Amino acid sequence: MPKRLVIVGAGTGGLMVANFVARDLHSEIEREEISVTLLGEQETYTYQPGYLYVVFDLMRPAQLMRPVRDLLSPGVRFVHDRAVRIDTGKRQVLRADGDALDYDVLVLATGSGLNLDEVPGLREGAHWFYTLEGALRLRDALRRWQGGKLVLTVGVPHKCPVAPLEFTMMFEEWARHRKVRDKTEIVYTYPLGRAHSIQAVADWVAPEFEARDIAIETFYNLESVEHEERIAHSLEGTDLPYDLLVSVPAHQGDDLGAASHLSGAGNWYPTDRHNLRLQGHDDIFILGDASDLPISKAGSVAHFEAEVLADNLVGVLTEGAPPANQYNGRAFCFIETGLERATFLAFDYEHPPTVPEPTNAVHWFKQTYNRIHWANLKAVM
Ligand SMILES: Cc1cc2nc3c(=O)[nH]c(=O)nc-3n(C[C@H](O)[C@H](O)[C@H](O)COP(=O)(O)OP(=O)(O)OC[C@H]3O[C@@H](n4cnc5c(N)ncnc54)[C@H](O)[C@@H]3O)c2cc1C
Repeated sequence: MPKRLVIVGAGTGGLMVANFVARDLHSEIEREEISVTLLGEQETYTYQPGYLYVVFDLMRPAQLMRPVRDLLSPGVRFVHDRAVRIDTGKRQVLRADGDALDYDVLVLATGSGLNLDEVPGLREGAHWFYTLEGALRLRDALRRWQGGKLVLTVGVPHKCPVAPLEFTMMFEEWARHRKVRDKTEIVYTYPLGRAHSIQAVADWVAPEFEARDIAIETFYNLESVEHEERIAHSLEGTDLPYDLLVSVPAHQGDDLGAASHLSGAGNWYPTDRHNLRLQGHDDIFILGDASDLPISKAGSVAHFEAEVLADNLVGVLTEGAPPANQYNGRAFCFIETGLERATFLAFDYEHPPTVPEPTNAVHWFKQTYNRIHWANLKAVM
């Protein structure tokens, strides 16, 4: 009987860790000593950072999508289904089709999704760019944009902490290119008392926005949207009339965790910040957005975690060794500061980021990454 690694979630983290392990253990997999199974509810992988470019007609949806099966290393078995419950006693993942997958080691990489029902009126009154459908609907609204007041609101937690800033700065430059900037008012809101949760980013962006005539409204937690009157109300009592409301809704984890009594508030999994174990479970690991770690929910985080976790899984599967390698909180985020310039953040648990001067070179680096991301997923880089 081979040792069975099961990974739930065929997104950024799930694909990477499956491919890293299969690459390192291809001989053991060929000898049927180890099996690697990836269970995913989507047969198509979608590169989510591309949604921002779809909004501004800079990328087409087809450029963001690939069949999951084309992204797998030899040796990874893909099962297309949804996990509905985990039975930790029997070490089984129960599937929507009624079947079960037995595991010796389990990785949960189920990501994060939007909570569109927390704020009354949001579904009817707001646009968002955190799903492909939302990005396409916003793209169509921008194609019709002749000017007016755009209000952006941010719910927490949400993935890619810098995407709301990127959208705002890209929109501002896009409006200038479209020659409607003089008829366009932009209001960026944020739930905290400054423009971003990361202090260095907040310090950098305040003068940047002032120079671009983008208003910042802090302590703004969206409470409800009156979609017919087009007014966004905050918990703090600020009413903002709008012509176009763009929201980053608060996120939550997949309900697999709650159905299995393994997750906590928000459906996030309580996770060890260094070895990524689900707390209280030696044979279950959490990867990427699904964890409750107070770090950025970002593809780069899922990537850096996947590298550490894969090394540990190789030891666990081949020798029963305890996970020795530690994730240090490493994260890397590009920030598009318009349509032609970008900067970046690099940080970890011990080292907060600084914000380098935006350049055209960093923007093109990001554009290149958008097109070679597939190689990263396949563990060939
Ligand atoms: C607009 C936008 C811009 C972004 N920009 C950046 C960026 O510039 N840089 C960056 O690093 N990150 C960025 N991100 C964030 C990045 O895309 C995510 O953080 C990353 O994809 C997280 O990887 P993950 O593996 O944890 O989750 P995901 O990649 O979301 O994958 C989770 C997978 O699990 C599947 N799943 C969930 N539940 C189940 C279940 N019960 N059974 C089976 N399958 C299940 C889902 O269908 C999905 O396929 C951006 C995201 C958005 C939306």
